[in-house]
Amino acid sequence: MSKPIRVVGSLNMDLVVQVPHQPIAGETVLGSDYTTYPGGKGANQAVAAARAGGQVEMWGAVGSDGFGQSLRDNLEQNGIDTQQLQTLEGSSGIALITVDPSGQNSIVVSPGANGRYTPQRLPPFTPAALLLLQLEIPLPTVLAVAEQAFTQGIPILLNPAPIQPLPGSLLRQIRYLVLNETEAASFTQSPIETPEQAQMAAQRLQQHGIPTVILTLGGAGLAWADGEDRGYLPAHAVNVVDTTAAGDGFCGALAACLAAGGSLQEALRFANAAAALAVTRAGAQTSLAQRAEIEVFLA
Ligand code: ATP
Repeated sequence: MSKPIRVVGSLNMDLVVQVPHQPIAGETVLGSDYTTYPGGKGANQAVAAARAGGQVEMWGAVGSDGFGQSLRDNLEQNGIDTQQLQTLEGSSGIALITVDPSGQNSIVVSPGANGRYTPQRLPPFTPAALLLLQLEIPLPTVLAVAEQAFTQGIPILLNPAPIQPLPGSLLRQIRYLVLNETEAASFTQSPIETPEQAQMAAQRLQQHGIPTVILTLGGAGLAWADGEDRGYLPAHAVNVVDTTAAGDGFCGALAACLAAGGSLQEALRFANAAAALAVTRAGAQTSLAQRAEIEVFLA
């Protein structure tokens, strides 16, 4: 068995209701029936990596409610190893999403079990090809698992979302930092409006001790800095239907390609294509691309 991609992160059940308008304080609005969609950045990236051909295991926590079992089943249906996924007494993470006719949404996240996934709950760290992290579980857990991976020489890919101040000790342990323009701007405190500025921002972020920094630029593609090199890849011209989870699709596919031994350039090309396919389809996990279609797209 080859070593897995280990995703340590969040799982949420998204509950979506269409509303005629967003309620103001004190108002009750009648909406549609609700629809449930498995989500959470951790789970989305795990599914993206698995569909992109990675052997993936998920560490994290769901609640003892019905959503917990559905979230676990969903990962398993995507071929993800859930042996280390814990079920904690109480609620699963959920996102309550209302969408109005103009497409504007309003979101309330209740972290549930994700917020109770403390460092004490981490199992002993075993070998892995790559550790894939986001910031939707408690920061002390992220720090503890990164420390273990770093000590064992396992490369860490961090997608620092939602953005928050991070200790320098964590940044120095990161091998690949993947972030969007808004997140990068909050780190570098300077505007990122052109591919040139994006490459310079990536280089500035390297000064935290990170060998490889990748800035995703939405429909403008991506900029990267790796060691002394830097560059830019335009996005594919596609028919954009829904950009939800483009970033998660990108991170998962990048992880899958790197873990399989791909070079950074191969992985960027692969992830840029996987994310382009994801934006041509509606939804979060439903839009994530399979390896075969990514390969056909690139052929
Ligand atoms: P999200 O929060 O929606 O998951 P994000 O802000 O983290 O996304 P983006 O920078 O918007 O991430 O997009 C990630 C990658 O997805 C881009 O680098 C690009 O490869 C692809 N992508 C995004 N938008 C488009 C688009 N309009 N056309 C083609 N590719 C796109």
